[in-house]
Amino acid sequence: MSNKIIDGKKISSEIKEKLRLEIKKLKEEGVVPGLAVIIVGSDSASQVYVKSKKKTAEELGIYSEIFQLEENAKEEDILELVGRLNKDNKIHGILVQLPLPKHIDEGKIILAIAPQKDVDCFHPENVGKILTGGAVVYPCTPAGIVELLKRSGIEISGKNCVVIGRSNIVGKPVALMMLQENATVTICHSKTKDLKKYCSEADIIVAAVGRAKMITADMVKNGAVIIDVGINRSPDGKLVGDVDFDSVIDKVSAITPVPGGVGPMTIAMLLKNTVLAAKNIIQIYK
Ligand code: NAD
Repeated sequence: MSNKIIDGKKISSEIKEKLRLEIKKLKEEGVVPGLAVIIVGSDSASQVYVKSKKKTAEELGIYSEIFQLEENAKEEDILELVGRLNKDNKIHGILVQLPLPKHIDEGKIILAIAPQKDVDCFHPENVGKILTGGAVVYPCTPAGIVELLKRSGIEISGKNCVVIGRSNIVGKPVALMMLQENATVTICHSKTKDLKKYCSEADIIVAAVGRAKMITADMVKNGAVIIDVGINRSPDGKLVGDVDFDSVIDKVSAITPVPGGVGPMTIAMLLKNTVLAAKNIIQIYK
């Protein structure tokens, strides 16, 4: 593998190994970190994600439970389940797999999760803390991105960082986190005029759009670092990112591949958040 490639699989394995030891220590103190995952309906991608989260959690020694609800589940049923899990001492992290079916108000469900158990960091109280400081957990994909950069020895402070995409899950929080790391941050989105102008001045590009190979070599300056968050299917069925990897590889100083870059970090950060939530809850009740 080229030494330019940021190996998310390897870095996430190192993080998981460290977590395994922390979980072992917590168990010796009588605490088993617990993660509850709520899934509504039978969306096949969501089913795969949820199974993979449970499997990885259990491999590390985290207790985990999946709550599978029918596609036509009522909002009250989900709220009731969340309320029950909020009070369940075995559970330190609650995750509601998104997207939820159209008839369910996602915001209402997220708001019902106890902020100290919100391991996805979607609750407005936790989102606010990314802005004002004092956060215990950070959203999984953005946290994974910052971790990849730091563990790869890439300086963030003082760098021009362009984030492409402004979703609540990736774009906005990663922009805030890069700002917290003292980058000068520009957020580009679907209404940005002349994306190329912004990208070509960036030391670090975080691409989180969901459009195959939209970032090409002519948009990237020599020596730039690229974090490719996008997951897209190319016409031949292969998984590709938002960045045209083959065209930019000769210009960049570092780049995450798709698959094997950001993806494995997201799950590692979820499990890290579960352990952090368990430790935090123990502190609260000490
Ligand atoms: P989203 O659809 O919520 O947001 C996409 C963003 O892209 C929007 O903010 C939009 O303004 C912007 N955009 C659309 N067209 C654009 C254009 N032409 N130029 C500039 N910006 C444009 O998506 P999301 O949830 O943030 O996910 C983005 C991508 O990242 C998807 O491919 C998703 O599958 C992937 N993703 C990967 C992980 C992971 O763990 N690797 C996690 C979350 C999301």
